Amino acid sequence: MHDHETMKDVIISLGSNIDRERHLPEAIRLIRRNRQIDVYKVSRFFESDSIGGPDDAPAYFNVALWACTDLEPGELRDALRGIEGVLGRRRDGDPNDPRTIDLDITYYQGVTEDFGDWRLPDPQALTVPHVAVPIADVAPDWEHDITGQSANDIVTQLENGGRSVRPVSAITLSAPYQTRTPQDWDDNPEVYAPHLESLVREQLLEIGEDPDREGLRRTPLRVAKAMDFLTSGYSTSLDDVVNSALFDAEGADEMVLVKGVEFYSMCEHHMLPFFGKATVAYLPDKQIIGLSKIARIVDLYARRLQVQERLTNQVADAVERILDPHGVAVTIEGKHLCMMMRGVQKQDSSMTTSAMRGTFKSDARTRSEFLDLSTS
Ligand code: ZN
Repeated sequence: MHDHETMKDVIISLGSNIDRERHLPEAIRLIRRNRQIDVYKVSRFFESDSIGGPDDAPAYFNVALWACTDLEPGELRDALRGIEGVLGRRRDGDPNDPRTIDLDITYYQGVTEDFGDWRLPDPQALTVPHVAVPIADVAPDWEHDITGQSANDIVTQLENGGRSVRPVSAITLSAPYQTRTPQDWDDNPEVYAPHLESLVREQLLEIGEDPDREGLRRTPLRVAKAMDFLTSGYSTSLDDVVNSALFDAEGADEMVLVKGVEFYSMCEHHMLPFFGKATVAYLPDKQIIGLSKIARIVDLYARRLQVQERLTNQVADAVERILDPHGVAVTIEGKHLCMMMRGVQKQDSSMTTSAMRGTFKSDARTRSEFLDLSTS
């Protein structure tokens, strides 16, 4: 997973005053979905009055996240802007207009910098109650880089000790996001994927189970987290994976072959697992790629709802796109639980698919060399 040596601690401040019971949990979930951000802790929810907007503007919910990331400040800001876009945030109107979601980096470990239209740490962390109070809740001992004040000290010095910002102890999520009782929020402030969790709960009811019995109580949460991981390929791009880890081939023109790349995917017909091993080969032209990246490219496409043929083609297309080699060959052998568990086929049966590009397709000798190497 992540190399925590290179990860930097960050604080992200969130606010919403349009359909806030829906947008805040969704934003937190989408941030967690980013594989380059690890969220340690989510603050309680706080409510604050709108400032600067029309008098009847709805009040905000505010939250702070304590996380770590290996994204640079600008990259993290872009990632948060992307999530704002998904949640319908528009930045072309009056800056005081109500908004579905606001995501700001208020602190980035070791960075004090003025980027022109934003600064780190965010000056609002010192003066604005709806920013400072959630930070003190999630990271009371955090120290401001410039003033050296702790988050608790900062709040104490605010007007009225920041009491204009009120903790929300019970949140009623807007339907169909209602999955937890207010007591759950008090015991467990963790917010994950309320909509997905409510659907899993429905599914348990549909099959005649009791979602409130002890063994199943946290199942919707667990399923949501597992599903998020198993489909994380949707929120990862090829560029994220490759991350410019390309090297000059320096004249190397021999076939590069990676065998036995384990993968786990889910068939799109039954949403049941299929899994097995992939073999990926290419004939370099100008560039080569680190071997571990090949495995990550396979994961990128495996962690989606798939059919094995498409998975095979997507891996071949990806290698072709990033390396522009003379040829690419991919074979995948997979066992499909939808066949094995339902007794449609014998339990040890597997399926083999292949995709050949360039020289591997046009030249029989290259192809047979690949097949010899991949089965030896
Ligand atoms: Zn299937």
